[in-house]
Amino acid sequence: MATIDITKLRKEFGDDGEQIVAVDDVDLHIEDGEFLVFVGPSGCGKTTTLRCIAGLEDVTDGTIEFDGVDVTDERARERNVAMVFQNYALYPHMTVRKNIGFPLRLSTKESSDEIDAKVDDVAELLGIETLLDDKPKELSGGQQQRVALGRAIIRDPEVFLMDEPLSNLDAKLRSKMRTELQELQQELGVTTAYVTHDQVEAMAMGDRIAILDGGKLQQVGTANEVYRTPANEFVAGFIGSPSINLFTAEVAGDTLRGPNGFACTVEDGSVVEGRDTVRVGVRPEDIRPAEDGELPSVVSVVENMGNENFLYADMGEVALTARVDSKMHPDEGAEVVFTFDEEDLYLFDPTTGESIKTKTGEVDVGYQQYVKNS
Ligand code: ATP
Repeated sequence: MATIDITKLRKEFGDDGEQIVAVDDVDLHIEDGEFLVFVGPSGCGKTTTLRCIAGLEDVTDGTIEFDGVDVTDERARERNVAMVFQNYALYPHMTVRKNIGFPLRLSTKESSDEIDAKVDDVAELLGIETLLDDKPKELSGGQQQRVALGRAIIRDPEVFLMDEPLSNLDAKLRSKMRTELQELQQELGVTTAYVTHDQVEAMAMGDRIAILDGGKLQQVGTANEVYRTPANEFVAGFIGSPSINLFTAEVAGDTLRGPNGFACTVEDGSVVEGRDTVRVGVRPEDIRPAEDGELPSVVSVVENMGNENFLYADMGEVALTARVDSKMHPDEGAEVVFTFDEEDLYLFDPTTGESIKTKTGEVDVGYQQYVKNS
């Protein structure tokens, strides 16, 4: 197993005419055995960062260390990493047994019997021992993904690198494989860097999440940290589903005034002192209908999710989303006033996007009295 240290990593593509900075001065430490997820919008540099860690891209600048050893100039096959991709890249003419054993046949002097024994172990771990004589085309997407994982695991790598490995699976299977992958990673304890564009997957799977935008690392933290205390407006907008409501408000003392009569008071006025405007953020799950509230709006669409409803409403020019009880089903055009608790209010600098205020309430851990740890 290994720690991974990425220092001032930079990767540019193209010649002098049209330079693309895919990864821009990224610094990151990944713990031994950690499951770290890179997430961000398309083109933010996730795959390129992963390929640099794998040794599949030459870096423009910066260093990559595994366990304190500089591997920046080592080629992919010299680094003890295994990659799993979105397209499983299985060999169609080989059986599952041959596919899984392939890396060992290529790289070790182990006998066929020894390799077969290892394939049996890996297949049992992944629950595909009955499929060993099948060819990839006879397998479902989930089974093919397990074979691809098997081929990665059998090499006993120091580091797993996974690039959107579940995105070819349907939603139900993807969520099942998510859990399986996490359990497997915990069992094997292999340091893992995982790429996804899906923030829900990132939140569900990562010990920590590294959020990229425009090649720059925006924040690294646990799901709770990036949700509750985002470093900036970009992170706040990217993490959370449905997305946080954002709009601009004018500052007058400790009062914020915004579109359609929005008004609220900030408990600690010093956070907005000296500012003319701020960006305000309130999450859909933190607002609720009330007699007297800060967010007067007109309902445009109601989406029924079964267990809850999403209300889409207009607060003047600003589109608002509220996550409410499934019993609440106002008609289109109904006027609803929403309120929220000040401790759930986010504020951002309108120029830099940096957070000025994030959630202040404590996370409720009252449930812990009911948890018996093994
Ligand atoms: P996606 O989720 O769409 O795969 P990503 O976050 O993984 O996106 P990258 O694939 O790392 O993003 O690409 C980052 C930037 O680098 C993009 O602007 C992309 O067009 C560019 N890029 C990636 N690979 C190359 C290449 N081989 N040559 C030129 N530009 C590239």
